[in-house]
Amino acid sequence: MKNIAVIGAGTMGNGIAHTFAQSGFKVQLIDINEASLERGIATITKNLDRLIAKEKISEADKSQTLANITIHTNINEGVKNANLVVEAATENVDLKLKIFKQLDEACDKNTILATNTSSISITQIAASTSRPDKVIGMHFMNPVPIMTLVEIIRGYNTSDDVTNTIMKLSKKLGKNPVEVNDYPGFVANRILMPMINESIETLFNGVAGVEEIDTVMKLGMAHPMGPLQLADFIGLDVCLSILKVMYDGFKNPKYAPCPLLVNMVTAGKLGVKSGEGFYDYSESRKAEIVAKQFL
Ligand code: NAD
Repeated sequence: MKNIAVIGAGTMGNGIAHTFAQSGFKVQLIDINEASLERGIATITKNLDRLIAKEKISEADKSQTLANITIHTNINEGVKNANLVVEAATENVDLKLKIFKQLDEACDKNTILATNTSSISITQIAASTSRPDKVIGMHFMNPVPIMTLVEIIRGYNTSDDVTNTIMKLSKKLGKNPVEVNDYPGFVANRILMPMINESIETLFNGVAGVEEIDTVMKLGMAHPMGPLQLADFIGLDVCLSILKVMYDGFKNPKYAPCPLLVNMVTAGKLGVKSGEGFYDYSESRKAEIVAKQFL
């Protein structure tokens, strides 16, 4: 397996492309939005520079990593020689079903199709293709070049062969793959999202402020980052859509998204990527707490 195509150059896609390219794979990075591709390459370059500054890689490693990445705006063009496609486009069921149908038609019949979805059913995505045995979840964590966990999600029809190949490949990337089954939220988000949602509910109920909630979890539970700040980093829109998938999937009110989260997403406060969420990330007010105004 040498040629990897990555669909989506956003927060996750550029990290996935970086990780494969730094491990010597040839990567085709594909996004419908040219500006996303430019931002993606700029982020990869910045992250490689950081690794040079920490003396973890050389200038030559940086050049080789960047040379391993080619960008495309056309999916069919980008995936034509891929042995593996990792889809990391926007978290939206209809979009993913459409992309996988297109990938199924455009790719060689042996190509493995992986998705980085945080919550959408792998079995449902696989059913939109003629190769459900070759469709698998490859759920990287953010930031991808740093976090070593990859949740490997087996759909109902994913074959043992494909699962073993992807487990081995993840180890080649220096990651620690963990195999899980395909139920809403898988393992990581099934446990993480109710905690984030409860933190937002705690703020919404006026029990404590943003900083107080994050401090309790950081100092009391040894979390490196508080849940509200973590939600900002993940993207509040991403958190909302994962909670909706779990709420729909289990029909259990404990997964109902907090109205404050719904309001913030509707107001365009998506966290780091929009410049503001529970904290303000603009240059002038770096990480200042702002969410109280939504109460
Ligand atoms: P993002 O919004 O940062 O990026 C999504 C990218 O997909 C955008 O650049 C967009 O232009 C592109 N895109 C949309 N439609 C496309 C299409 N048809 N073809 C090609 N590109 C297309 O989103 P993200 O945070 O990188 O999330 C991507 C996926 O990774 C989602 O499924 C999400 O659930 C999952 N994920 C996110 C995180 C996180 O912390 N953000 C963590 C793990 C998994």
